Amino acid sequence: MSNPSEDGLPPLREVIKAHDLGAKKSLGQNFLLDLNLTRKIARAAGDLSQCTVLEVGPGPGGLTRALLMEGAAKVIAVERDARCLPALAEISKAYPGRLEVVEGDALEIDAAALTKGAPTKIVANLPYNVGTALLIQWLAGPPAWPPFWQSLTLMFQKEVAQRIVAEPGSKAYGRLAVLAQWRSAPYLAFDVAPTAFVPPPKVTSSIIHIEPCAPPEDAPSIKTLERVTQAAFGQRRKMLRAALKQLTPNPEPLLEAAQIAPTARAEEVDVAGFCRLARSFEGA
Ligand code: SAM
Repeated sequence: MSNPSEDGLPPLREVIKAHDLGAKKSLGQNFLLDLNLTRKIARAAGDLSQCTVLEVGPGPGGLTRALLMEGAAKVIAVERDARCLPALAEISKAYPGRLEVVEGDALEIDAAALTKGAPTKIVANLPYNVGTALLIQWLAGPPAWPPFWQSLTLMFQKEVAQRIVAEPGSKAYGRLAVLAQWRSAPYLAFDVAPTAFVPPPKVTSSIIHIEPCAPPEDAPSIKTLERVTQAAFGQRRKMLRAALKQLTPNPEPLLEAAQIAPTARAEEVDVAGFCRLARSFEGA
């Protein structure tokens, strides 16, 4: 066995070998083995000493160990792949009472119930195949705002990260940008090269950090905002007076009430404009 890592546990390469954790594509498994990098991700989440960290997909535990090394009061890690549980149990043993591992599908679990009302930060190197669905769940799911989480620090493929922080008028601007920006503030923290992962993915990844902020005054319901952005961006080349016919036979008065030109296309409307539009649909 080679020298232990700074936390006294074996290097991740050995953990993977010892537990036979060959990466499965179907589970979006691209592992990070460099604790310096995973600690940088943990630090991007800010002070962890007063909160519970919810981690989705700990895998062999590279980010989990970093979160604990960076002082997380408690980590709750949800992993779907039962093969990873013995490796994670070894980390639990090294940090008594600070790591709880839950075997399950993060898309199915009630994350708010799991963290039992504790101040929560979500930090994850997300499986690429369910990353966007989980983000939408966290942004759109909680009925109350601010939500149960204080921040999200998440790894996405760079192309998805760019869609989250995109501004109106850009190609990347769409439904994801509106849902991520209307009552929270996302920013791209840093990029991570494919070579940092085992196995390396084809594309660059990025860490996104998101904190909730106050929703606009007289905010629409998330359901209406989702419906309006879905219709508008579903046919993004069409003018809104045509694209929104999916929702109502005569959208023009609603567009006018929201002070949006009926000839505008979805990508020209800013986040505040979509909120006004959703409200005018609610009022109709
Ligand atoms: N956190 C580890 C790291 O950084 O090396 C692994 C990250 S890997 C990109 C994604 C992890 O999510 C894998 O361990 C995979 O088994 C797990 N996973 C995939 N789908 C999941 C789901 N629906 N719920 C919970 N975990 C999932």
